[in-house]
Amino acid sequence: MHDRDTEPPPPLAFQHLKSLLDSLSATTLALAARALELLEFDRAHRFCGACGAPTTLTTDPPARRCSAPDCGREHFPRVSPVVIVAVERGPEILLGRSPHFPPGLYSTLAGFVDAGESAEQAVHREIHEETGLRIRALRYFSSQAWPFPHALMLGYQAEYEAGEIVCAPGEIEDARFFHVDALPPLFPIRYAMANLLLRDFCLRHDRPWPPRPAN
Ligand SMILES: [Zn+2]
Repeated sequence: MHDRDTEPPPPLAFQHLKSLLDSLSATTLALAARALELLEFDRAHRFCGACGAPTTLTTDPPARRCSAPDCGREHFPRVSPVVIVAVERGPEILLGRSPHFPPGLYSTLAGFVDAGESAEQAVHREIHEETGLRIRALRYFSSQAWPFPHALMLGYQAEYEAGEIVCAPGEIEDARFFHVDALPPLFPIRYAMANLLLRDFCLRHDRPWPPRPAN
């Protein structure tokens, strides 16, 4: 998302942050994520959403303020919460794939939190909408910034309760329970919450992470 007239001096080069997630330190990543989200906010809030007048940048805290004297509303960078959940059934974990995933890649299921909904309600709703399953024993795992463009990933773990898998048409191409000894061949990148959830699942079942390739 850089000005195409601007090129860095060799040997430097622009790269999309997504391609660097597994190679940057946590400190650098946090800075880069913040920078990317603020740039996107700045680009997308040039005008006041309430009255349409131009906004100006303020820096402490970062915001854009409406220039109309009778409005003056302040707009703050948006954060969009996404829940992502590892549903477990004994030694099995529920993984699914979207139609746009590369072949062989499966991930834990995820979705945006709706307006007026708690994160926990969103987990139950998403799993039911995407697979038809009921879950229980929901517990919070961890969170992380996912600045594409402004998500906050909220990781959860849960146990299968009831139901047969029925994939949501157009959204989930395939979803099933994978045994800890027969996980799919491709995993989400190391940085991703889905990877951390899978890693935790394997380690709790005394399996190595990443899994050893099958002979
Ligand atoms: Zn305004």
